[in-house]
Formats: sequence, structure tokens, C-alpha cells
Amino acid sequence: MSGAAVRRLRLVVASANPDKVKEIVSILSASIEVDLLPRPADLPDVVEDGETLLDNARLKARALSSATGTAAVSDDTGLEVDALDGAPGVYSARYAGENATYADNVDKLLRSLDALPDGGGRRRARFRTVALASFPDGSELWAQGTVEGTIAVARRGENGFGYDPVFVPLGEEGGDGRTFAEMRAEEKEALSHRGRAFRSLARALAEGAPVHRARQS
Ligand code: IMP
Repeated sequence: MSGAAVRRLRLVVASANPDKVKEIVSILSASIEVDLLPRPADLPDVVEDGETLLDNARLKARALSSATGTAAVSDDTGLEVDALDGAPGVYSARYAGENATYADNVDKLLRSLDALPDGGGRRRARFRTVALASFPDGSELWAQGTVEGTIAVARRGENGFGYDPVFVPLGEEGGDGRTFAEMRAEEKEALSHRGRAFRSLARALAEGAPVHRARQS
């Protein structure tokens, strides 16, 4: 047989958050033929000091692709609550402070909404994820995924992570009144911000069709 063998895509997963890595691996493996490698444990954490989700996704993936010489894929996610002017947004991981737990962040979110003059009547929110692949030559592909929803008045459900116990996707997004934490993993992935972002990125990686493409100097 002649001709060059087609090289299978290899991507290092840049996230250090095991909850996110589990979802990223599941979504990408279901979408494209790819070998996904874990982030080397000896690499220092990347300081996520970008002003946007795209900046932070780029910081994480570029650091990994430069350090490993292999293409890297990253995710940066924010929860945007309209009544809080888009907060916690890019600060979702540290909303209640630098070393905040998921529980601390959810507590602060519910308290902040309860403290509003209308008693938190306006609870419209969305999750937004930027999924980005960075290649050792400095080029990149990225895609964004969002899901619209509302913030529940109290936690419901045991699955998922982060703000999942208080996020209820809208009916027109495929939701049925349950929070993400009341859904099975595959139900969340089918309609989530991360599912949408990584399925778009997977299509772009498979077809070479740009979602957003850039070449960094
Ligand atoms: P980051 O992308 O690691 O900066 O994530 C920001 C924070 O958003 C995380 O620490 C979680 O608290 C939250 N988060 C990210 N993705 C999800 C999700 O799919 N469900 C619920 N919370 C999430």
C-alpha cells in the first residue's frame, strides 16, 4: 500500500479540573476519532488572569501545547446572571473568593439573588463555554457554546458539579424543569454549553472547517 498513513489526532486536555475533564473526554470521544492525553501532573497551574473566557481558554491551551509539543484543548466556562449584570461570568470559579468551593460559590449566588430588591424574581442566566484547540505551530481553532436557563431558588440534585444544582435549562433549550444536577451525565451533555462548544470544535477539527481560526505570531 502506498501513501502516507493518516495520523490520528492527539490532544492534551489542558484543564486541571477533573469534573470538566470527564465531560470533555466524554463529549470529544463521542464526536471524533481522537487520542486524548491527560495534562502532565508536573506542569504548574496556569494563572487564569485573562479578561474574557476566550483569553483564559487560550492561556491554558497555549501553555500546554508549548510545554508538550502536542496540540492541546482547553475549556473556559462562565455563568452569566442577567440580574447580576452578567456576574459571576469570567470569575465563576472564584466568585466567593480565591479558594472558594463549589458550595461557597452557589451560596453566594443564591444570597446575591435573594438580596435584590425584587427578591431575585429575575433569575435568567446562561452558561457559556469557549472550547479551544491550540497547535504547536501557534495556530488555533475555537468554538463557543451557550445554554439559556434560570437560577433555581434552592439546590436540587446530586449529579454534575459547580453551579449545576441551581441551573435549570429553558424548555426551548431542551430542558424539562430539572436542574443539570438532576440529569444523568449524557442528558446534561446533550444540551449543555460544554456539549455544544466541544461538538462544534470537534466538527471543525474533523473537517478542517473553521469555526474561528487564528494564527498566532
Ligand atoms: P473554569 O472554566 O474552570 O474557570 O470554570 C469556572 C467555574 O464555573 C467552575 O469552577 C465551576 O464552578 C463552574 N462551572 C464550569 N462548568 C460548569 C458546568 O458545566 N456546570 C456547573 N458549573 C460549572
